[in-house]
Amino acid sequence: MHETNTFSATPTDYQSFAQTELLAGEEIVARYSDSHATMAGFIQAAGLFGVTVVPLYFANTNPAGIITDDAFERITGRMIDALVSQGPWDGVLLAQHGAAVSERYRDADGEIAARVREAVGHETPVGMVLDMHANLSQQMIDNVTVAVVYRTNPHLDASIRAAECAEIIVRTARGELRPVQALETPPVVINIVKQATAAEPMASVIRDLDDVLARPGILSASVAEGYPYADVDEMGMGFLAVHDGDMSVARDAARWLADRTWRRREDFRGVALTPEQAMARAAASPAKPVVLMDVGDNIGGGSPGDSTVLLATAKEQGVRGLLQTLFDPEAVATCISAGVGSVLDLWVGAKTDKLHGAPIPVRGCVRLISDGRFEDATPTHGGSRVFESGKTTVLETDDGHTLVLTSRLVGNTSVEQMRSLGIRPELMQVIVAKGVISPRPAYEPIAAEMIMVDTPGVTALNLHQFEYSHRRHPLYPFEESAAYG
Ligand SMILES: [Zn+2]
Repeated sequence: MHETNTFSATPTDYQSFAQTELLAGEEIVARYSDSHATMAGFIQAAGLFGVTVVPLYFANTNPAGIITDDAFERITGRMIDALVSQGPWDGVLLAQHGAAVSERYRDADGEIAARVREAVGHETPVGMVLDMHANLSQQMIDNVTVAVVYRTNPHLDASIRAAECAEIIVRTARGELRPVQALETPPVVINIVKQATAAEPMASVIRDLDDVLARPGILSASVAEGYPYADVDEMGMGFLAVHDGDMSVARDAARWLADRTWRRREDFRGVALTPEQAMARAAASPAKPVVLMDVGDNIGGGSPGDSTVLLATAKEQGVRGLLQTLFDPEAVATCISAGVGSVLDLWVGAKTDKLHGAPIPVRGCVRLISDGRFEDATPTHGGSRVFESGKTTVLETDDGHTLVLTSRLVGNTSVEQMRSLGIRPELMQVIVAKGVISPRPAYEPIAAEMIMVDTPGVTALNLHQFEYSHRRHPLYPFEESAAYG
């Protein structure tokens, strides 16, 4: 499971997965059974549908740059070996992201699906659950019996979709269903700031899905918002309909969904305030906290999580009371060697590359040192429950900011990230959340306002600044001339 930002300078190697999650057998159950993630839904299938679920292998790591051939072959090889050596199977369930890119395979999820199909043969039903940021490809769809995509962004329904997929696969294995799927990929990209499924324009797309789901014989219907930071041919939105036996009905439904969205494509363009505008507005707000979404440093989109752009803006404007995380293992080590209570001068942030601001000099007091582990039992984006930030320190600067310095990269998707460190985020004036949609479940309950900010970085909202060499042409909104239907 990987979301690959092909513009990121940080390659995703075997070590990246090994440091995050390479789980086999019961390790998967221990890690995920009480979460809300895809794997939880697969595990629940045993009790829900009266089958034996055998956990084989799961590899997952943070969104970052292209997956090395070495990592792809070792991980996929181990997965296929387990499938072959422990089989045969009545059905197979895959937990993928759908926007993985390896050095050799730009459609890495499609390649995995093809290898699984080859390993288990054409008679075995294969189900694949995908993140809503999947760039759906015909290769993925052709090689699985059914694909089911999350239907919420922030992604709060991963385990529910996984159970839905598992049910279709179980019933297919029992001979009760004959799923056929149709994929439509109109040439349209939805901007990252327009992707919340509870708000327009996506809310209407989800209502369209509900319409299709209510049609006779439809087993599943999905919209993938796509992942624009993967420079691949299939980048963009995808619409999938699954029918019990009738391809023409599935095809009509997928086309209807795609066409409805295509007609409204102008609504899917995105704009946001500049850092200066957003900071001034946040500082002037009588109600607090105001949460600023650092769109260019969206950890869930593959950015380094160490952008200092908004911190620098706060300093320039003399704003106090800002809270944010910074991925900075070097600064953490410096703080730890100084010890709790020490006051020190150091440079923080922007050490991964030159795209996310510059390191900033701060004078601060080390308030706390933590192992960086925290837990959230409520549904968080993607469904994880346990988070590991590595060694973490809280630094309070002499100009009134609270910096959470981490040595591993964890998205700002849970308020427990702050509460577990004794921080009360509701008392801050400004909170910087390094995400776009994913921090909403954490911060919406306490935020006076949430503002999208057009910050620079590998997940910047203005896609025209990226140099693509593999995407389709024409593709809206890059080319207004794009046509569909
Ligand atoms: Zn996603």
